[in-house]
Amino acid sequence: MALINLHTHSTYSDGTLAPAELARAAVKAGVKYFSLTDHDGTGGWGEMEPALKEAGLTYCYGVELSTGLHENLHILGYGVNPADPALNARLAEFRGRRVVRIKKILELLRGLGIEIAFEDLPVPGNRTVGRPQVADVLRARKVVSNRSQAFKRYLGPGAAAYVAPNGPPVEEAIRAVTDAGGKAVLAHPGAVGKVIDLGAWKDMGLAGIEAFYPAHTGAATREFVALAARHGLFVTAGTDFHGPGTERGDMGGFEYQEEYFSEIRKLFI
Ligand code: AMP
Ligand code: FE
Ligand code: FE
Ligand code: ZN
Repeated sequence: MALINLHTHSTYSDGTLAPAELARAAVKAGVKYFSLTDHDGTGGWGEMEPALKEAGLTYCYGVELSTGLHENLHILGYGVNPADPALNARLAEFRGRRVVRIKKILELLRGLGIEIAFEDLPVPGNRTVGRPQVADVLRARKVVSNRSQAFKRYLGPGAAAYVAPNGPPVEEAIRAVTDAGGKAVLAHPGAVGKVIDLGAWKDMGLAGIEAFYPAHTGAATREFVALAARHGLFVTAGTDFHGPGTERGDMGGFEYQEEYFSEIRKLFI
């Protein structure tokens, strides 16, 4: 059985596996169709692409953009050229917003007696910083025992060091993808809830939704597949793998079925 998994993260954002290790993990899990979708950055593709070729995997280029509308309102961009200068300029701006947000979070943590300097975060160079790397420092210092606990106690909505998302509007995220020649896909719709407005987003250029996602029940998946059809959107599948030591450490994947994935297939290299 060939599995498809078009949603994964590497050490270029908040994943714990380097791209080459990610390729090996995908092969081991039986994945055949793959994408790397680091948050607000394409830097991992330089290492990812040769590793995927060596592993014999079929892939499409990917990235995942965080919007400011909702915690979990993320737009996946598939088929973009990772070296596209205009796209990367926009992504650099989005990463800059993340730095602002993380610094506010560190300020709130300081107020709680937890001193973490921005430089303490394990995010070299132009990689993407996010709350998971803050969580990892909290874990290393034995303040929490895992990322989930860090989100529950400090970093998530309602917690003491929570700062609302400050990413771009949905329209700007969709446009960043479509201007780069890619297909914009709504990530993990089951985690977004009431703010979903497929009609409006389709008009802005949205092309698909991630109907197949581990947290979706069978009923929810069927509902998203039907919703996609109703709005003229295609569906995609991904596990949001973040690597060992995270609570999203199961690579997994979904059975590749031509009836569902014939559109996204056009982007495979
Ligand atoms: P950020 O990019 O800073 O908005 O942080 C969001 C990221 O944190 C998501 O992509 C997940 O990787 C991770 N995340 C969100 N909620 C949790 C949670 N409850 N437990 C573990 N990781 C989480
Ligand atoms: Fe993440
Ligand atoms: Fe996401
Ligand atoms: Zn993700």
